[in-house]
Amino acid sequence: MRDRDGSRRVPAARRVVDAVRRSGVRLVRFLYTDNGGVTRGKATHVDGLAGRLTDGIGLTVAMQAMNMLDQLTRVEGLGPVGEIRLVPDPETFVVLPYAPRTAAMTVDMRTLDGAPWEACPRDFLKRQIAACAAAGFTVRAAFECEFSLATRGADGAWAPLDESLCFSTTGMTTAAAVMDDIVAALEAQSIEVEQYYPELGHGQQELSVRHAPALAAADRQVLYRETVRGVAYRHGLYASLAPKPFPDQAGNGGHIHWSLWDAAGRKNLMHDPRGRYGISALGYHFVAGVLAHLPALVALTCPSYNSYRRLKPHSWSSAYTAWGPDNREGAVRIASPFASDRAGSTNAELKPSDASSNPYLALGGLLAAGLDGVRRKLTPGEPALVDPGDWSDAEREARGIRRLPASLAEALDGLAGDEVLVEALGPVLARAFMTVKRSEWEAFSKADVAFEVKHHFWKF
Ligand code: GLU
Ligand code: MG
Repeated sequence: MRDRDGSRRVPAARRVVDAVRRSGVRLVRFLYTDNGGVTRGKATHVDGLAGRLTDGIGLTVAMQAMNMLDQLTRVEGLGPVGEIRLVPDPETFVVLPYAPRTAAMTVDMRTLDGAPWEACPRDFLKRQIAACAAAGFTVRAAFECEFSLATRGADGAWAPLDESLCFSTTGMTTAAAVMDDIVAALEAQSIEVEQYYPELGHGQQELSVRHAPALAAADRQVLYRETVRGVAYRHGLYASLAPKPFPDQAGNGGHIHWSLWDAAGRKNLMHDPRGRYGISALGYHFVAGVLAHLPALVALTCPSYNSYRRLKPHSWSSAYTAWGPDNREGAVRIASPFASDRAGSTNAELKPSDASSNPYLALGGLLAAGLDGVRRKLTPGEPALVDPGDWSDAEREARGIRRLPASLAEALDGLAGDEVLVEALGPVLARAFMTVKRSEWEAFSKADVAFEVKHHFWKF
């Protein structure tokens, strides 16, 4: 419950308890997102809320070794012995518009002594935010998600809601009632909606929300996914944010837009009217860092087996480490700013990113990669002004452009070999994440596409 004006006159915990009393809420969910990218949680009854705001709720350490198939992997220290505490951040309190008398907060994972736990993804993002602040800038971001609306037949198979065309008004009409409720539910949680339109794929929608400071952006992404799925379900529909819920249809991106600001959040440091495409030297160092680490970073931003069905050439999802102005086949697109506020609207967009990610890991990884570019004063080379997939291998090589990993296994190899990202994650989180993701790759690579779709469709 961040106030729009940012005022903190009443301590957040007190405001949560007051808000719960006023709204008649009975259960308050404490939400975390795990290494498989799945949001899970435990709820407290209101009577115990005041105490649990400080004590948290207990969780076995093993959950950070659980994959998205609920298979427990073997990670040293994350077995059946040991507990952590899920301690909510009262700033994130929302009453859930799609679940009766229920509210939610996102949590930090803490040790029994109250210290940040080494395997906590939210703390990983906080550390990267602090490192950027120490380097003189703050990051604002927004996850821009596409999702597919579907019905489910008696046989359990999902079918797209419609066969409408890209941006078509018939698609708007088919989805109007559910989209209106999703927008209302986001507004009720103070998540400002930017734009809506039906996308290219059958039943595919895009609904973007406003950018926010990095931690709030990741928290919002958790609540956004919950909201889209939750509201659709109340309409008798299924919403999937999985990267490729229908293998023959356009994939769902979860692009990350970001910009770099001064400490007060007033000046967009990414903007320089004299810079190429209006981007500052700092902005380009950050972009270059992202591109340099991209073959490893995608393990965090495109972390599911299903992600690699989406990241293909000529799919508008990007497949190469190219960048360019408004180039939607570039991994990093320099978005054209808006005339009324060029400085404020200057931003870049990471295309190889989808909503099967743990947003704290995805955004934390983006910050760590970008910051490395800033520290080393990297530059991104020449922009791609055409689809880089149209160049020959030799042309791409001459430009220093690499193919992004073609599978989760390749991406994990990239991550394992990336010292900057592994060090930023820290040994426990890095080991747990990679073990969980390897196990998912092993499970899905042995199975067929129906199994893959079944298990990705409604978790994301
Ligand atoms: N659906 C595309 C993706 O997978 C993005 C299309 C677009 O918005 O440019 O990322
Ligand atoms: Mg789109």
